[in-house]
Amino acid sequence: MILVLNSGSSTIKYRLVDPDDPGAGDKGVVERIGEPGGPADHTEALRTVFDDLRGDRPDGVGHRVVHGGDRFVRPTLLDDAAVDAIRDLTPLAPLHNPGAVAGIEAARRTFGDVPHVAVFDTAFHADLPPAAATYAIDREVAARYGIRRYGFHGISVGYVAARTAVLLDRPPGELNLVVLHLGNGASATAVHGGRSVETSMGFTPLEGLVMGTRSGDLDPALPGFLQRAGMSPSEVDGLLQHRSGMAGLCGAGDMRTVDERRVAGDAAANLAFDVYCHRIRKYVGAYHATLGRLDAVVFTAGIGENSPAVRAASLAGLDGWGITVDPDRNNGKGMRVISPPDARVAVCVVPTDEEHAIAEAVTTFLP
Ligand code: AMP
Repeated sequence: MILVLNSGSSTIKYRLVDPDDPGAGDKGVVERIGEPGGPADHTEALRTVFDDLRGDRPDGVGHRVVHGGDRFVRPTLLDDAAVDAIRDLTPLAPLHNPGAVAGIEAARRTFGDVPHVAVFDTAFHADLPPAAATYAIDREVAARYGIRRYGFHGISVGYVAARTAVLLDRPPGELNLVVLHLGNGASATAVHGGRSVETSMGFTPLEGLVMGTRSGDLDPALPGFLQRAGMSPSEVDGLLQHRSGMAGLCGAGDMRTVDERRVAGDAAANLAFDVYCHRIRKYVGAYHATLGRLDAVVFTAGIGENSPAVRAASLAGLDGWGITVDPDRNNGKGMRVISPPDARVAVCVVPTDEEHAIAEAVTTFLP
């Protein structure tokens, strides 16, 4: 069994994964680390996990790490030097990497004698073509701060792209896909032959699609404008990270609530839904152009897997491009094709499983 940990600054999500039996295994979350009433630190939090496992020793531990920078482009066996290198990436991912490092250090203390492997959300995008990865800014400034498009959600997108090839019964190397990971965070990725060639999240996970509380794309002049209007840099960050997206537009960041309110006739929720789906359609068109030929559009994560309304609205009007959603299939369940049988482009729903993908990566390091 592989223990998979997703450690944040104040939470640790864990799941015990049997790589041969997806879906099996205990999971849970330890919250309020370092807060009143919660465990004092990540080591104490992991003792709770250890107790939950009732003394079962995992064969290996997989750690999800959001940002691998330029250094980590594949799953990496963790030693002291690798942990230090992940810590050194903190300026690129101040919200994410410190929690991951705290979780890794605590886990190496708690489950010391088994391989610990870090798996990075950026790694799947490490080979983005330079034309896609490069921002058109002063190249010396970009080099000084490591400013480029890194891309995120790569663990999910890589897994979903491989599963799509199985669903369509085609070799992964032949397929051109647009993968839409629509969860609390949301991104679009163009996948050519199993490799990421363009992706909507960039230097940070703020760029691109509209999200629960994040704006996605906007005019890059806006942060400067808001600061000259009197907001501090951290207030601007707070606005764009936590008070934007669907939450900013209609007061609800959760798609289920947005959808209920929209159906009940709430105009703000209706606009939030339209802005959300309009942005997705724009990216599908752009990535179709990037790929040249498109074999499938793939929906995954909480909204992508569960919202027929978002899937139908996002792809509405694209019939001329061979992209059509069949209403009956759209309302079904599980991994499936939801386009008509004769459609030029397959539209698919493929459930993601990031913990399973991480566990599979860990097994390659087991003796
Ligand atoms: P994730 O980050 O993948 O867990 O996805 C979270 C998002 O999925 C939230 O916006 C949820 O509202 C959304 N979601 C989950 N179930 C449904 C559903 N049945 N219909 C619409 N959205 C859903």
